[in-house]
Amino acid sequence: MSGQRRKSHDGKPARKPIQRLLIANRSEIACRIIRTARDMGIETVAVYSEPDRPAAHVSLADQAVALGGDSPATSYLSIERVIDAARKSGADAVHPGYGFLAENSGFAAACSAAGLTFVGPAPGAIDAMGDKIRARELARDCKLPLVPAAELTGDAKPDAKAASALGYPVLVKAAAGGGGRGMRIVETADALEDAVAAARREAASAFGDDRVFLEKYLSEPHHIEIQIFGDGNGGVVHLGERECSVQRRHQTIIEEAPSPMVGPALRDRMGEAAIRLAGSMDYAGAGTVEFIVDGSGDFYFLEMNTRLQVEHAVTEMITSTDLVRWQLEVASGSGLPIGVGHTPAGSGHAIECRIYAEDPSAGFLPTAGRVERVEHPAGPGIRVDSALYDGFDVPLEYDPMLAKIVAWAPDRAQAIERMRGALRETAILGVGTNVAFLLDILADPSFRDGTFTTTTVGERYADWRPDPSGLSIAAAAAAILCAAAVPPGGDRAARGTAASITDPWQTLAGWRHGRRAEPAERGDEE
Ligand code: ADP
Ligand code: ADP
Ligand code: MG
Repeated sequence: MSGQRRKSHDGKPARKPIQRLLIANRSEIACRIIRTARDMGIETVAVYSEPDRPAAHVSLADQAVALGGDSPATSYLSIERVIDAARKSGADAVHPGYGFLAENSGFAAACSAAGLTFVGPAPGAIDAMGDKIRARELARDCKLPLVPAAELTGDAKPDAKAASALGYPVLVKAAAGGGGRGMRIVETADALEDAVAAARREAASAFGDDRVFLEKYLSEPHHIEIQIFGDGNGGVVHLGERECSVQRRHQTIIEEAPSPMVGPALRDRMGEAAIRLAGSMDYAGAGTVEFIVDGSGDFYFLEMNTRLQVEHAVTEMITSTDLVRWQLEVASGSGLPIGVGHTPAGSGHAIECRIYAEDPSAGFLPTAGRVERVEHPAGPGIRVDSALYDGFDVPLEYDPMLAKIVAWAPDRAQAIERMRGALRETAILGVGTNVAFLLDILADPSFRDGTFTTTTVGERYADWRPDPSGLSIAAAAAAILCAAAVPPGGDRAARGTAASITDPWQTLAGWRHGRRAEPAERGDEE
Protein backbone atom coordinates (compact mmCIF):
# COMPACT_ATOMS: atom_id res chain seq x y z
CA MET A 1 0.00 0.00 0.00
CA SER A 2 1.45 3.38 -0.94
CA GLY A 3 2.00 6.17 1.54
CA GLN A 4 2.37 3.97 4.60
CA ARG A 5 3.12 5.76 7.79
CA ARG A 6 6.76 5.85 8.92
CA LYS A 7 7.43 2.89 11.14
CA SER A 8 10.03 2.54 13.85
CA HIS A 9 12.12 -0.63 14.28
CA ASP A 10 9.43 -2.39 16.35
CA GLY A 11 6.92 -1.95 13.50
CA LYS A 12 4.86 0.67 15.34
CA PRO A 13 4.27 4.12 13.79
CA ALA A 14 7.13 6.38 14.89
CA ARG A 15 6.27 9.02 17.50
CA LYS A 16 6.19 12.54 16.16
CA PRO A 17 4.36 14.93 18.47
CA ILE A 18 2.31 17.53 16.63
CA GLN A 19 3.27 21.09 17.42
CA ARG A 20 1.36 23.18 14.92
CA LEU A 21 -1.79 21.90 13.22
CA LEU A 22 -3.31 23.33 10.07
CA ILE A 23 -7.04 22.74 9.75
CA ALA A 24 -7.92 22.35 6.07
CA ASN A 25 -11.61 23.11 6.53
CA ARG A 26 -14.11 25.76 7.60
CA SER A 27 -17.18 26.36 9.76
CA GLU A 28 -18.20 24.34 12.80
CA ILE A 29 -15.84 21.42 12.17
CA ALA A 30 -12.81 23.70 11.89
CA CYS A 31 -13.77 25.37 15.19
CA ARG A 32 -14.35 21.99 16.83
CA ILE A 33 -10.88 20.74 15.81
CA ILE A 34 -9.17 23.98 16.89
CA ARG A 35 -10.68 23.63 20.37
CA THR A 36 -9.28 20.15 20.93
CA ALA A 37 -5.86 21.13 19.58
CA ARG A 38 -5.90 24.05 22.03
CA ASP A 39 -6.73 21.65 24.89
CA MET A 40 -3.67 19.61 23.90
CA GLY A 41 -1.31 22.58 23.73
CA ILE A 42 -1.05 22.34 19.94
CA GLU A 43 -0.88 25.61 18.00
CA THR A 44 -3.53 26.02 15.32
CA VAL A 45 -3.54 27.45 11.80
CA ALA A 46 -6.80 28.26 10.02
CA VAL A 47 -7.10 28.65 6.26
CA TYR A 48 -9.85 30.61 4.58
CA SER A 49 -11.40 31.53 1.27
CA GLU A 50 -12.17 35.17 0.50
CA PRO A 51 -15.89 34.87 1.44
CA ASP A 52 -14.76 33.32 4.76
CA ARG A 53 -12.47 36.20 5.74
CA PRO A 54 -14.82 37.12 8.63
CA ALA A 55 -15.61 33.48 9.56
CA ALA A 56 -15.42 32.24 13.15
CA HIS A 57 -12.72 29.63 12.53
CA VAL A 58 -10.38 32.37 11.29
CA SER A 59 -10.46 34.31 14.54
CA LEU A 60 -10.47 31.22 16.75
CA ALA A 61 -7.15 29.85 15.44
CA ASP A 62 -3.73 31.11 16.59
CA GLN A 63 -2.96 32.17 13.04
CA ALA A 64 -4.83 32.22 9.74
CA VAL A 65 -3.64 32.01 6.15
CA ALA A 66 -5.67 33.26 3.18
CA LEU A 67 -6.05 30.68 0.42
CA GLY A 68 -6.86 33.47 -1.99
CA GLY A 69 -9.77 32.05 -3.97
CA ASP A 70 -13.52 32.63 -3.82
CA SER A 71 -14.80 29.22 -4.90
CA PRO A 72 -14.21 25.90 -3.10
CA ALA A 73 -12.05 24.80 -6.07
CA THR A 74 -9.69 27.73 -5.64
CA SER A 75 -9.60 27.51 -1.84
CA TYR A 76 -10.49 24.55 0.39
CA LEU A 77 -10.27 22.07 -2.48
CA SER A 78 -6.93 23.32 -3.81
CA ILE A 79 -4.28 20.84 -2.64
CA GLU A 80 -1.52 23.15 -3.82
CA ARG A 81 -2.81 26.18 -1.92
CA VAL A 82 -3.46 24.27 1.28
CA ILE A 83 0.01 22.69 1.25
CA ASP A 84 1.48 26.09 0.51
CA ALA A 85 -0.37 27.55 3.50
CA ALA A 86 1.03 24.78 5.68
CA ARG A 87 4.56 25.59 4.54
CA LYS A 88 4.09 29.33 5.07
CA SER A 89 2.69 28.90 8.55
CA GLY A 90 5.24 26.35 9.71
CA ALA A 91 2.58 23.73 10.42
CA ASP A 92 3.78 20.17 10.94
CA ALA A 93 0.41 18.44 10.62
CA VAL A 94 -2.87 18.81 8.73
CA HIS A 95 -6.38 17.86 9.85
CA PRO A 96 -8.80 17.67 6.91
CA GLY A 97 -12.10 17.65 8.90
CA TYR A 98 -14.93 16.16 6.80
CA GLY A 99 -15.98 17.02 3.25
CA PHE A 100 -13.54 18.92 1.01
CA LEU A 101 -10.19 17.05 0.89
CA ALA A 102 -10.91 14.67 3.76
CA GLU A 103 -11.27 11.64 1.50
CA ASN A 104 -8.82 12.68 -1.20
CA SER A 105 -5.90 10.26 -1.24
CA GLY A 106 -3.88 12.66 -3.41
CA PHE A 107 -4.11 15.21 -0.63
CA ALA A 108 -3.04 12.72 2.03
CA ALA A 109 -0.06 11.76 -0.17
CA ALA A 110 0.80 15.41 -0.88
CA CYS A 111 0.87 16.10 2.86
CA SER A 112 3.28 13.21 3.45
CA ALA A 113 5.44 14.30 0.52
CA ALA A 114 5.65 17.79 2.05
CA GLY A 115 6.76 16.30 5.38
CA LEU A 116 3.40 17.00 7.04
CA THR A 117 1.57 14.52 9.25
CA PHE A 118 -1.84 13.86 7.67
CA VAL A 119 -4.44 13.29 10.39
CA GLY A 120 -6.17 10.34 8.77
CA PRO A 121 -5.49 6.96 7.25
CA ALA A 122 -2.89 6.11 4.59
CA PRO A 123 -3.74 7.06 0.98
CA GLY A 124 -4.19 3.38 0.08
CA ALA A 125 -7.00 2.97 2.63
CA ILE A 126 -8.71 6.17 1.43
CA ASP A 127 -8.60 4.91 -2.15
CA ALA A 128 -9.81 1.42 -1.32
CA MET A 129 -12.82 2.67 0.61
CA GLY A 130 -13.60 5.69 -1.58
CA ASP A 131 -14.56 3.32 -4.37
CA LYS A 132 -17.78 1.57 -3.35
CA ILE A 133 -17.15 -1.33 -5.77
CA ARG A 134 -13.67 -2.01 -4.40
CA ALA A 135 -14.87 -1.51 -0.84
CA ARG A 136 -17.51 -4.19 -1.38
CA GLU A 137 -14.84 -6.59 -2.66
CA LEU A 138 -12.66 -6.01 0.40
CA ALA A 139 -15.69 -6.37 2.69
CA ARG A 140 -16.53 -9.67 1.01
CA ASP A 141 -12.96 -10.89 1.55
CA CYS A 142 -13.39 -10.03 5.23
CA LYS A 143 -16.65 -12.04 5.30
CA LEU A 144 -18.93 -9.07 5.95
CA PRO A 145 -22.55 -9.57 4.87
CA LEU A 146 -23.27 -7.47 1.75
CA VAL A 147 -26.37 -6.05 0.12
CA PRO A 148 -26.95 -8.16 -3.03
CA ALA A 149 -25.47 -6.26 -5.97
CA ALA A 150 -24.60 -6.59 -9.64
CA GLU A 151 -22.19 -5.02 -12.08
CA LEU A 152 -23.48 -2.94 -14.95
CA THR A 153 -21.95 -3.52 -18.36
CA GLY A 154 -23.54 -0.61 -20.22
CA ASP A 155 -25.30 -3.08 -22.53
CA ALA A 156 -29.07 -2.96 -22.11
CA LYS A 157 -29.73 -6.71 -22.31
CA PRO A 158 -27.28 -8.10 -19.74
CA ASP A 159 -28.01 -5.13 -17.47
CA ALA A 160 -31.75 -5.83 -17.58
CA LYS A 161 -31.03 -9.47 -16.79
CA ALA A 162 -28.83 -8.55 -13.84
CA ALA A 163 -31.48 -6.20 -12.45
CA SER A 164 -34.31 -8.71 -12.66
CA ALA A 165 -32.08 -11.34 -11.05
CA LEU A 166 -31.66 -8.95 -8.09
CA GLY A 167 -35.41 -8.21 -8.12
CA TYR A 168 -36.97 -4.77 -8.32
CA PRO A 169 -36.74 -2.21 -6.84
CA VAL A 170 -33.02 -1.76 -7.44
CA LEU A 171 -30.72 1.11 -6.67
CA VAL A 172 -28.27 2.49 -9.23
CA LYS A 173 -25.26 3.74 -7.28
CA ALA A 174 -22.18 5.69 -8.26
CA ALA A 175 -18.95 3.89 -7.33
CA ALA A 176 -17.46 7.23 -6.29
CA GLY A 177 -20.67 8.62 -4.71
CA GLY A 178 -20.98 10.30 -1.35
CA GLY A 179 -23.14 12.68 0.67
CA GLY A 180 -26.29 10.85 -0.45
CA ARG A 181 -25.72 11.85 -4.06
CA GLY A 182 -25.39 9.68 -7.13
CA MET A 183 -28.21 7.24 -6.27
CA ARG A 184 -31.36 6.39 -8.22
CA ILE A 185 -34.13 4.02 -7.21
CA VAL A 186 -35.51 2.02 -10.14
CA GLU A 187 -38.94 0.46 -9.53
CA THR A 188 -39.58 -1.33 -12.81
CA ALA A 189 -37.63 -2.88 -15.70
CA ASP A 190 -38.76 -0.33 -18.28
CA ALA A 191 -37.18 2.51 -16.28
CA LEU A 192 -33.77 0.85 -15.92
CA GLU A 193 -31.97 1.93 -19.07
CA ASP A 194 -32.77 5.63 -18.71
CA ALA A 195 -31.96 5.60 -15.00
CA VAL A 196 -28.56 4.02 -15.60
CA ALA A 197 -27.72 6.54 -18.33
CA ALA A 198 -28.81 9.47 -16.16
CA ALA A 199 -26.91 8.12 -13.15
CA ARG A 200 -23.77 7.77 -15.26
CA ARG A 201 -24.02 11.37 -16.45
CA GLU A 202 -24.63 12.64 -12.92
CA ALA A 203 -21.75 10.62 -11.51
CA ALA A 204 -19.39 11.87 -14.20
CA SER A 205 -20.19 15.50 -13.52
CA ALA A 206 -20.39 15.27 -9.71
CA PHE A 207 -17.48 12.90 -9.02
CA GLY A 208 -15.48 12.83 -12.26
CA ASP A 209 -16.07 9.07 -12.43
CA ASP A 210 -19.03 7.58 -14.33
CA ARG A 211 -18.86 4.03 -12.97
CA VAL A 212 -22.18 2.87 -11.54
CA PHE A 213 -23.44 -0.45 -10.19
CA LEU A 214 -26.70 -1.98 -9.01
CA GLU A 215 -27.73 -2.82 -5.48
CA LYS A 216 -30.91 -4.46 -4.32
CA TYR A 217 -33.00 -1.64 -2.85
CA LEU A 218 -33.98 -2.68 0.65
CA SER A 219 -37.31 -1.32 1.81
CA GLU A 220 -37.65 0.52 5.10
CA PRO A 221 -34.22 -0.24 6.53
CA HIS A 222 -32.25 1.43 9.29
CA HIS A 223 -28.87 3.05 8.68
CA ILE A 224 -26.61 2.05 11.55
CA GLU A 225 -22.90 2.76 11.55
CA ILE A 226 -19.98 1.71 13.72
CA GLN A 227 -17.28 4.15 14.83
CA ILE A 228 -13.89 2.49 14.64
CA PHE A 229 -10.34 3.59 15.40
CA GLY A 230 -7.22 1.92 14.08
CA ASP A 231 -3.64 2.22 15.35
CA GLY A 232 -2.14 1.81 11.85
CA ASN A 233 -0.64 -1.48 12.86
CA GLY A 234 -3.59 -3.83 12.59
CA GLY A 235 -5.00 -2.93 16.01
CA VAL A 236 -8.60 -1.68 15.78
CA VAL A 237 -11.24 -0.86 18.39
CA HIS A 238 -14.88 0.14 18.00
CA LEU A 239 -16.87 2.69 19.96
CA GLY A 240 -20.36 1.39 19.36
CA GLU A 241 -22.99 2.45 16.89
CA ARG A 242 -24.87 5.50 15.73
CA GLU A 243 -28.43 5.34 14.44
CA CYS A 244 -28.75 7.56 11.36
CA SER A 245 -32.13 6.61 9.93
CA VAL A 246 -33.70 10.05 9.99
CA GLN A 247 -32.66 10.96 6.47
CA ARG A 248 -33.72 13.22 3.68
CA ARG A 249 -32.44 12.32 0.23
CA HIS A 250 -30.19 9.64 1.68
CA GLN A 251 -28.50 12.08 4.03
CA THR A 252 -28.97 12.06 7.79
CA ILE A 253 -30.45 15.01 9.65
CA ILE A 254 -30.89 13.55 13.16
CA GLU A 255 -28.45 11.06 14.64
CA GLU A 256 -28.36 9.25 17.93
CA ALA A 257 -26.31 6.87 20.02
CA PRO A 258 -27.02 4.20 21.01
CA SER A 259 -29.51 2.98 18.40
CA PRO A 260 -32.92 2.14 19.88
CA MET A 261 -32.92 -1.10 17.85
CA VAL A 262 -29.42 -2.36 18.71
CA GLY A 263 -28.87 -4.56 21.76
CA PRO A 264 -25.55 -5.82 23.15
CA ALA A 265 -25.47 -8.94 20.92
CA LEU A 266 -26.06 -7.09 17.64
CA ARG A 267 -23.61 -4.36 18.72
CA ASP A 268 -20.92 -6.96 19.29
CA ARG A 269 -21.55 -8.60 15.92
CA MET A 270 -21.55 -5.33 13.99
CA GLY A 271 -18.53 -4.03 15.91
CA GLU A 272 -16.63 -7.22 15.25
CA ALA A 273 -17.41 -7.03 11.50
CA ALA A 274 -16.28 -3.39 11.35
CA ILE A 275 -13.03 -4.22 13.16
CA ARG A 276 -12.36 -7.10 10.75
CA LEU A 277 -12.63 -4.80 7.74
CA ALA A 278 -10.49 -1.98 9.17
CA GLY A 279 -7.94 -4.42 10.58
CA SER A 280 -7.45 -5.99 7.15
CA MET A 281 -5.90 -2.76 5.85
CA ASP A 282 -3.86 -1.71 8.92
CA TYR A 283 -6.23 1.20 9.24
CA ALA A 284 -4.98 4.32 11.08
CA GLY A 285 -7.23 6.82 12.83
CA ALA A 286 -10.98 7.40 12.80
CA GLY A 287 -13.29 5.59 10.42
CA THR A 288 -16.94 4.69 10.15
CA VAL A 289 -18.26 1.44 8.78
CA GLU A 290 -21.83 1.94 7.59
CA PHE A 291 -24.46 -0.79 7.56
CA ILE A 292 -28.02 -1.06 6.48
CA VAL A 293 -30.12 -3.09 8.91
CA ASP A 294 -33.49 -4.68 8.18
CA GLY A 295 -36.41 -5.17 10.53
CA SER A 296 -35.19 -8.59 11.63
CA GLY A 297 -31.81 -7.26 12.73
CA ASP A 298 -29.83 -8.63 9.77
CA PHE A 299 -27.13 -6.16 8.75
CA TYR A 300 -25.35 -5.55 5.45
CA PHE A 301 -22.20 -3.56 4.69
CA LEU A 302 -22.87 -0.28 2.82
CA GLU A 303 -19.58 1.63 2.76
CA MET A 304 -16.77 2.92 4.92
CA ASN A 305 -15.98 6.60 5.45
CA THR A 306 -12.29 7.17 6.13
CA ARG A 307 -12.58 10.33 8.19
CA LEU A 308 -14.28 11.97 11.14
CA GLN A 309 -18.05 11.89 10.63
CA VAL A 310 -20.40 14.87 11.00
CA GLU A 311 -22.24 12.94 13.71
CA HIS A 312 -19.19 11.93 15.79
CA ALA A 313 -20.39 14.06 18.71
CA VAL A 314 -23.13 11.63 19.79
CA THR A 315 -20.49 8.93 20.26
CA GLU A 316 -18.33 11.37 22.23
CA MET A 317 -21.24 12.27 24.50
CA ILE A 318 -22.09 8.69 25.50
CA THR A 319 -18.50 7.43 25.74
CA SER A 320 -16.96 10.56 27.34
CA THR A 321 -14.23 10.61 24.71
CA ASP A 322 -12.81 13.29 22.43
CA LEU A 323 -12.43 11.67 19.03
CA VAL A 324 -10.39 14.53 17.61
CA ARG A 325 -7.91 14.01 20.45
CA TRP A 326 -7.84 10.32 19.57
CA GLN A 327 -7.16 11.24 15.94
CA LEU A 328 -4.30 13.54 16.90
CA GLU A 329 -2.81 10.96 19.27
CA VAL A 330 -2.91 8.21 16.65
CA ALA A 331 -1.49 10.52 13.98
CA SER A 332 1.40 11.51 16.21
CA GLY A 333 2.24 7.87 16.91
CA SER A 334 1.05 7.74 20.53
CA GLY A 335 -1.22 4.81 19.76
CA LEU A 336 -4.83 4.21 20.72
CA PRO A 337 -6.03 5.59 24.06
CA ILE A 338 -7.64 2.22 24.90
CA GLY A 339 -6.32 -1.29 24.46
CA VAL A 340 -7.31 -3.42 21.50
CA GLY A 341 -10.19 -5.68 22.50
CA HIS A 342 -11.75 -3.00 24.69
CA THR A 343 -14.79 -0.82 24.00
CA PRO A 344 -15.42 2.33 26.04
CA ALA A 345 -18.48 1.82 28.21
CA GLY A 346 -21.43 3.80 26.89
CA SER A 347 -23.55 5.79 29.30
CA GLY A 348 -26.88 7.45 28.64
CA HIS A 349 -28.26 8.59 25.31
CA ALA A 350 -27.27 11.37 22.90
CA ILE A 351 -29.18 12.92 19.99
CA GLU A 352 -27.78 15.34 17.41
CA CYS A 353 -29.79 17.64 15.15
CA ARG A 354 -28.20 19.21 12.09
CA ILE A 355 -29.32 22.81 11.67
CA TYR A 356 -29.45 23.70 7.99
CA ALA A 357 -29.91 27.01 6.17
CA GLU A 358 -32.87 25.78 4.15
CA ASP A 359 -36.61 26.22 3.85
CA PRO A 360 -38.33 22.87 4.52
CA SER A 361 -41.70 24.32 3.44
CA ALA A 362 -40.33 25.34 0.02
CA GLY A 363 -38.74 22.11 -1.18
CA PHE A 364 -35.79 22.51 1.22
CA LEU A 365 -34.37 25.27 -0.93
CA PRO A 366 -31.14 26.65 0.51
CA THR A 367 -31.47 30.00 2.26
CA ALA A 368 -28.76 32.59 2.62
CA GLY A 369 -28.25 36.04 4.01
CA ARG A 370 -27.22 37.65 7.25
CA VAL A 371 -27.77 36.04 10.62
CA GLU A 372 -28.91 39.14 12.48
CA ARG A 373 -29.00 37.43 15.82
CA VAL A 374 -28.22 33.96 17.03
CA GLU A 375 -29.16 32.45 20.36
CA HIS A 376 -27.69 29.04 21.10
CA PRO A 377 -29.31 26.73 23.63
CA ALA A 378 -27.59 25.84 26.90
CA GLY A 379 -28.13 23.76 30.00
CA PRO A 380 -27.20 20.37 31.41
CA GLY A 381 -26.28 17.84 28.72
CA ILE A 382 -26.45 20.33 25.83
CA ARG A 383 -23.56 20.72 23.38
CA VAL A 384 -23.52 23.16 20.49
CA ASP A 385 -21.03 22.82 17.62
CA SER A 386 -21.52 26.02 15.69
CA ALA A 387 -19.61 28.76 13.91
CA LEU A 388 -22.50 31.21 13.88
CA TYR A 389 -22.35 34.70 15.35
CA ASP A 390 -24.42 37.86 15.16
CA GLY A 391 -23.89 39.42 11.75
CA PHE A 392 -22.54 36.24 10.09
CA ASP A 393 -23.34 36.14 6.38
CA VAL A 394 -24.36 32.62 5.32
CA PRO A 395 -22.57 32.03 2.04
CA LEU A 396 -24.26 30.09 -0.75
CA GLU A 397 -21.04 28.46 -1.94
CA TYR A 398 -20.83 25.89 0.84
CA ASP A 399 -22.70 23.06 2.46
CA PRO A 400 -25.81 24.57 4.11
CA MET A 401 -25.19 23.00 7.52
CA LEU A 402 -24.97 25.88 10.02
CA ALA A 403 -24.58 24.12 13.33
CA LYS A 404 -25.15 20.92 15.24
CA ILE A 405 -27.03 20.72 18.50
CA VAL A 406 -26.49 17.69 20.70
CA ALA A 407 -28.46 16.66 23.78
CA TRP A 408 -27.32 14.03 26.24
CA ALA A 409 -29.51 12.55 29.01
CA PRO A 410 -29.53 9.38 31.12
CA ASP A 411 -32.10 7.77 28.81
CA ARG A 412 -33.60 8.22 25.35
CA ALA A 413 -36.93 9.70 26.44
CA GLN A 414 -35.18 12.38 28.47
CA ALA A 415 -32.72 13.05 25.64
CA ILE A 416 -35.63 13.66 23.25
CA GLU A 417 -37.23 16.11 25.69
CA ARG A 418 -33.92 17.88 26.22
CA MET A 419 -33.35 18.11 22.49
CA ARG A 420 -36.81 19.61 21.99
CA GLY A 421 -36.17 22.15 24.70
CA ALA A 422 -32.83 23.03 23.16
CA LEU A 423 -34.35 23.54 19.72
CA ARG A 424 -37.08 25.74 21.18
CA GLU A 425 -34.36 27.85 22.79
CA THR A 426 -32.49 28.15 19.51
CA ALA A 427 -33.04 31.39 17.62
CA ILE A 428 -31.35 32.06 14.30
CA LEU A 429 -32.72 35.28 13.00
CA GLY A 430 -32.50 36.56 9.45
CA VAL A 431 -31.93 33.25 7.68
CA GLY A 432 -34.51 30.48 7.29
CA THR A 433 -33.61 27.19 8.99
CA ASN A 434 -35.02 23.70 9.49
CA VAL A 435 -35.48 24.07 13.27
CA ALA A 436 -39.31 23.85 13.25
CA PHE A 437 -39.08 20.84 10.93
CA LEU A 438 -36.70 19.06 13.31
CA LEU A 439 -39.06 19.75 16.20
CA ASP A 440 -41.93 18.07 14.34
CA ILE A 441 -39.82 14.99 13.62
CA LEU A 442 -38.79 14.72 17.27
CA ALA A 443 -42.50 14.73 18.16
CA ASP A 444 -43.37 12.03 15.60
CA PRO A 445 -44.61 8.85 17.35
CA SER A 446 -42.43 6.67 15.10
CA PHE A 447 -39.34 8.64 16.12
CA ARG A 448 -40.34 8.33 19.76
CA ASP A 449 -40.78 4.57 19.56
CA GLY A 450 -37.61 4.10 17.47
CA THR A 451 -39.36 2.55 14.44
CA PHE A 452 -38.47 5.45 12.09
CA THR A 453 -36.68 4.14 8.97
CA THR A 454 -34.57 5.77 6.26
CA THR A 455 -37.67 6.29 4.12
CA THR A 456 -39.98 7.86 6.72
CA VAL A 457 -39.02 11.51 6.15
CA GLY A 458 -39.35 11.18 2.37
CA GLU A 459 -42.74 9.51 2.64
CA ARG A 460 -44.34 11.55 5.35
CA TYR A 461 -42.65 14.93 5.38
CA ALA A 462 -42.25 15.84 1.71
CA ASP A 463 -45.08 18.39 1.89
CA TRP A 464 -44.30 19.55 5.39
CA ARG A 465 -45.54 22.99 6.40
CA PRO A 466 -45.00 24.68 9.76
CA ASP A 467 -48.01 24.58 12.04
CA PRO A 468 -49.20 28.21 12.00
CA SER A 469 -50.76 27.88 15.45
CA GLY A 470 -47.63 26.36 16.94
CA LEU A 471 -45.49 29.44 17.09
CA SER A 472 -42.31 28.29 18.78
CA ILE A 473 -40.51 30.04 21.55
CA ALA A 474 -37.58 30.29 19.15
CA ALA A 475 -39.61 32.12 16.53
CA ALA A 476 -41.03 34.50 19.10
CA ALA A 477 -37.63 35.08 20.61
CA ALA A 478 -36.19 35.60 17.15
CA ALA A 479 -38.77 38.26 16.42
CA ILE A 480 -38.01 40.13 19.60
CA LEU A 481 -34.30 39.81 19.05
CA CYS A 482 -34.76 41.12 15.54
CA ALA A 483 -36.33 44.26 16.95
CA ALA A 484 -33.48 44.54 19.38
CA ALA A 485 -30.86 44.09 16.67
CA VAL A 486 -30.09 47.74 16.26
CA PRO A 487 -26.51 48.48 15.27
CA PRO A 488 -24.52 50.58 17.74
CA GLY A 489 -25.70 54.15 17.30
CA GLY A 490 -28.34 52.83 14.89
CA ASP A 491 -31.90 53.94 14.62
CA ARG A 492 -34.53 51.33 15.38
CA ALA A 493 -37.03 53.12 13.18
CA ALA A 494 -34.65 52.65 10.27
CA ARG A 495 -35.05 48.90 10.74
CA GLY A 496 -38.77 48.99 10.22
CA THR A 497 -38.98 45.57 8.64
CA ALA A 498 -37.37 43.87 11.57
CA ALA A 499 -39.31 45.83 14.15
CA SER A 500 -42.64 45.23 12.48
CA ILE A 501 -42.21 41.46 12.60
CA THR A 502 -42.34 41.58 16.36
CA ASP A 503 -45.72 43.20 16.82
CA PRO A 504 -48.08 40.22 16.73
CA TRP A 505 -45.73 38.09 18.81
CA GLN A 506 -44.60 40.50 21.44
CA THR A 507 -46.78 39.14 24.19
CA LEU A 508 -45.41 35.62 23.70
CA ALA A 509 -41.82 36.21 24.44
CA GLY A 510 -39.86 36.83 27.54
CA TRP A 511 -36.77 37.84 25.62
CA ARG A 512 -34.79 41.01 25.33
CA HIS A 513 -31.56 41.43 23.43
CA GLY A 514 -29.65 38.27 24.27
CA ARG A 515 -30.98 37.53 27.72
CA ARG A 516 -34.28 36.72 29.34
CA ALA A 517 -36.11 39.87 30.29
CA GLU A 518 -36.49 40.68 33.95
CA PRO A 519 -40.07 40.28 35.17
CA ALA A 520 -40.33 44.04 35.59
CA GLU A 521 -39.35 44.61 31.95
CA ARG A 522 -42.07 42.25 30.82
CA GLY A 523 -44.59 43.88 33.11
CA ASP A 524 -44.90 40.61 35.07
CA GLU A 525 -46.14 40.74 38.64
CA GLU A 526 -43.49 39.75 41.19
P1 ADP B 1 -21.91 12.04 6.83
O1 ADP B 1 -22.57 10.70 7.04
O2 ADP B 1 -20.84 12.35 7.81
O3 ADP B 1 -22.86 13.16 6.62
P2 ADP B 1 -21.51 12.17 4.00
O4 ADP B 1 -20.60 11.36 3.13
O5 ADP B 1 -22.96 12.07 3.81
O6 ADP B 1 -21.12 11.85 5.48
O7 ADP B 1 -21.11 13.69 3.79
C1 ADP B 1 -20.05 14.26 4.37
C2 ADP B 1 -20.41 15.55 4.98
O8 ADP B 1 -19.44 16.47 4.54
C3 ADP B 1 -21.76 16.11 4.57
O9 ADP B 1 -22.73 15.86 5.54
C4 ADP B 1 -21.54 17.57 4.49
O10 ADP B 1 -21.98 18.24 5.66
C5 ADP B 1 -20.06 17.69 4.34
N1 ADP B 1 -19.73 18.07 3.00
C6 ADP B 1 -19.88 17.36 1.87
N2 ADP B 1 -19.45 18.05 0.84
C7 ADP B 1 -19.01 19.23 1.34
C8 ADP B 1 -18.44 20.37 0.78
N3 ADP B 1 -18.22 20.49 -0.51
N4 ADP B 1 -18.13 21.37 1.60
C9 ADP B 1 -18.32 21.28 2.91
N5 ADP B 1 -18.84 20.23 3.48
C10 ADP B 1 -19.19 19.23 2.71
P1 ADP C 1 -23.24 7.82 0.60
O1 ADP C 1 -21.84 7.53 0.18
O2 ADP C 1 -23.89 8.82 -0.26
O3 ADP C 1 -23.33 8.09 2.06
P2 ADP C 1 -24.42 5.19 1.19
O4 ADP C 1 -24.14 3.96 0.43
O5 ADP C 1 -23.81 5.32 2.52
O6 ADP C 1 -24.03 6.45 0.28
O7 ADP C 1 -25.98 5.32 1.32
C1 ADP C 1 -26.59 6.45 1.88
C2 ADP C 1 -28.04 6.11 2.23
O8 ADP C 1 -28.78 5.67 1.08
C3 ADP C 1 -28.22 5.00 3.23
O9 ADP C 1 -28.10 5.45 4.55
C4 ADP C 1 -29.61 4.49 2.91
O10 ADP C 1 -30.59 5.32 3.47
C5 ADP C 1 -29.67 4.63 1.42
N1 ADP C 1 -29.25 3.38 0.77
C6 ADP C 1 -28.04 3.08 0.27
N2 ADP C 1 -28.02 1.85 -0.25
C7 ADP C 1 -29.26 1.34 -0.07
C8 ADP C 1 -29.90 0.10 -0.42
N3 ADP C 1 -29.25 -0.86 -1.05
N4 ADP C 1 -31.20 -0.05 -0.08
C9 ADP C 1 -31.89 0.92 0.54
N5 ADP C 1 -31.36 2.10 0.88
C10 ADP C 1 -30.06 2.32 0.57
MG1 MG D 1 -22.82 6.79 3.57
